Amino acid sequence: MFLRSDKAPFDSMQEECGVFGVYSSESRNVAHTVYYGLYALQHRGQESAGIAVAYNDKIEYFKGMGLVPEVFEEANFATLPEGDIAIGHVRYSTTGASHILNAQPVVFTGKCGKIAVAHNGNLVNTRSLREKLIQENAVFQTTIDSEVIASMINKYSDGNILKGIVCACKEFKGSYSLVVMTTTQLIAVRDPFGIRPLVLGRSLDDYIVASETCALDAVGATYVRDVEPGEILVIDANGLTSHRMENLPPKSAACIFEYVYFARADSILDGCSVYEARKQAGRILAQKYGVEADIVSGVPDSAVVAARGYSEVSGIPYVEALAKNRYVGRTFIQPDQSMRENSLSVKMNALRANIQGKRLIIVDDSIVRGTTSKRIVRMLRDAGAREVHVRICSPIIKHPCHLGIDMQTYSQLIGAYRNEEQIAKVLGADSIRYLSVDDLVETCRQSRMNFCLGCFSGEYPCPSEETDKYKFE
Ligand code: SF4
Repeated sequence: MFLRSDKAPFDSMQEECGVFGVYSSESRNVAHTVYYGLYALQHRGQESAGIAVAYNDKIEYFKGMGLVPEVFEEANFATLPEGDIAIGHVRYSTTGASHILNAQPVVFTGKCGKIAVAHNGNLVNTRSLREKLIQENAVFQTTIDSEVIASMINKYSDGNILKGIVCACKEFKGSYSLVVMTTTQLIAVRDPFGIRPLVLGRSLDDYIVASETCALDAVGATYVRDVEPGEILVIDANGLTSHRMENLPPKSAACIFEYVYFARADSILDGCSVYEARKQAGRILAQKYGVEADIVSGVPDSAVVAARGYSEVSGIPYVEALAKNRYVGRTFIQPDQSMRENSLSVKMNALRANIQGKRLIIVDDSIVRGTTSKRIVRMLRDAGAREVHVRICSPIIKHPCHLGIDMQTYSQLIGAYRNEEQIAKVLGADSIRYLSVDDLVETCRQSRMNFCLGCFSGEYPCPSEETDKYKFE
C-alpha cells in the first residue's frame, strides 16, 4: 500500500486534487506548461496525474498512477502533441477507488465534440445524479463523481458547452473547481460557495487557470484574480468572458483548511497569504494559549512557520526539535504491522542535542487520528525532553468532511468525543491547546471569503445526501 503524505504515516488528512489549464495564442508545447503547473500542485494529490491537449479538432491525453515526474517520463510525454489548449490534474481519491480508470482528466466525445474535464472537490449528490443518468441510458466507465459531472454537462449542452455547464451546475451539490476543455475553449468553473480555490493568471498572451497561485509562479504567469464563487470563465479566440450561475447563495464558504494544511505556504488564496495565515496562527497560540517553556519548535514542514510565529510573540527561542528525512517523498511504502512503530523514525527523527532536558512546545497544524502526534510526543520524550506541550493551529476536528477531504467517519477523529485534557492524556503530552474557531477565522482575516467550518462545527454549506458514509462508525 502506498501512503501519500508529507506528514508521518497513518495520521494526516489527504488533499483532494489539483487542476491546471492553459489557453495559448498559438500552437506550441502546452503540455510542458501543464507539467510544470502540476508539479507545483503535487501536494494536492499524489495518486495519479494526467494531461489532455487539444489540437486540430482532436484531444490527446495521457494519464498514469503516481507522481507527476513518474507518470510523465520522456517517452510518455512524447505521446502528447503540440496544441493551443491543455488541462491537467493531480489526484487523491475521495470518491472512487485508487485506479488508473479513475485518473483524470475525463475525456469523452459528446454533443460538443471532444471534451476533457478535470475536477477538484466532491459532489455530495453523486449517487442520485448517477442513478438518474443511468435511467436516462447514460453509461459510466468509472466510479468517480467527475465522470458524473462530465455526463451532466453533456446531457444539457445541446452543442453549446456553456449552456451545458450552467444547467448542470444547477443540479450539482457540493464542492467543485473545474477546468473544462473543448477543442476551441478553456473553461474554468468554481462552485457557488467557492469551497475549493481556483485562480486566473496571464503569461504574455496565454491564459492560465490553476488551483493555487504557486502553480502560476511555477510557469512564469502573473496572478490576475481568483475565480469568484459561482463564476464560469470562458476563454477562446474572442478572449475571456465571465458568466454567473443562477441563484447564488448569500455567503461564500471557502474551506478554511486550505490555509491550515492543504495549500502550499507560498500560495495566496482569495487575497490571503497562506504563509501569513499560518504565522498568525502561531502568534495567537502564543498570545492566548502560551505556557512556560525553554524552546518552541514546529512539526516539519507545515507547522514550522507557525512555530516561528509563536517564538516571535513569546520570546521563547525557536529550535529545531525534529529533523525530517528529505529523501522520503510523499510516496512512502507503508511497512507491515511489525515495522509500523519504526516507520515514523524513517521520516522524522528527534534532535536529541537540541531538546535534552528542555521544556518543549511543539506546534502542529492539526490532529486527525492522533496516531502520529502520539508517536512524536513519545519520540521527543525518548530524546530527553523534560516537558512536551502541544499547540495546534486549528480547533479540535469534531466532524467528518464530505466536501473533498479524506476524513469521512467520526471514528477516525481523536477529537470527536474528547476535550483537550483527554486528548493530552491519549497523546502523553503535558498539555495541549487548540485555536478556537474565532481564532482560526482571525488568522485568515485578509481573505475576501466567508468560510466553511464544518469539520469543527458540524455545520456545512451543503449537507451530504449520502449520509450513510458519514454516520457514527
Ligand atoms: S468540512 Fe472542514 S475540511 Fe471539509 S470543506 Fe469544510 S472546512 Fe474544509
